[in-house]
Amino acid sequence: MSTILAVFAHPDDELGCIGTLISHSQNGDNVHLLFLTKGENSSVLGGTDEERIIKRRKHTQQIEELAGVQVHFLDFPDSRIQVSVEGAYLLAEKIKEVRPNCIITWNQPLRPGAGHPDHRACSQLVFDAINYARYRSKSSKFKPFREPITLYQYYDPQVDYGAQIQYIDVTDYYDKIMRFVEIYQEAYGDWPVKTFKTTWLQTNGRECNVPYAEAFKIVVRGYGASKLLPLDIPPRSLPSEKENKTTNEVEQS
Ligand SMILES: [Zn+2]
Repeated sequence: MSTILAVFAHPDDELGCIGTLISHSQNGDNVHLLFLTKGENSSVLGGTDEERIIKRRKHTQQIEELAGVQVHFLDFPDSRIQVSVEGAYLLAEKIKEVRPNCIITWNQPLRPGAGHPDHRACSQLVFDAINYARYRSKSSKFKPFREPITLYQYYDPQVDYGAQIQYIDVTDYYDKIMRFVEIYQEAYGDWPVKTFKTTWLQTNGRECNVPYAEAFKIVVRGYGASKLLPLDIPPRSLPSEKENKTTNEVEQS
């Protein structure tokens, strides 16, 4: 059983990996979803900060149930996440607590919209926190975590040209992914997220020969030794013995 930790700035940022998280939870893995903020600065959800936090909590409770994941929050201020040593140490505590084999997080998008400064800060904090989680600390109630971690970031073809990519076939969970979008739709506003996500899944899928796929950039590979090359391509089906015989007979005659 593996432990997966997804770290994002705001609730609903996990849109790009929800199928993968569901796949792992269905596989019996421990899946943790950590948000650095409570998402109180949502520009679409009305009301006060407190009311927005309650709405965000309700969404994430439904996501926990839908995806079979455990949701955690830290207390960074929404739209004001700073890359700092203190912040990275806070996040490192969570890594020491969860002890993940793999972390999925934001990339460093540079476009308006997807390029929210919190997303870039989150990505940087994760990178630093993996290091700090390795350190002994008198003030920590957790042991240092020094196991290898594989770090994946969202793959963005516009900024990650030439990157090593890992595709995950999420075809079996397409309906659940659409349900995920419905849960968050009020936070997405008028944005047609079902269409967007479906196109995105199909675009990735076309590159790896499945109907729907999610894609990640491999940033750090946590190495173990394998007895065989880890080929992701399914073995080619060989012609059956009977077919072989027929071919030989034809050649001989
Ligand atoms: Zn966000």
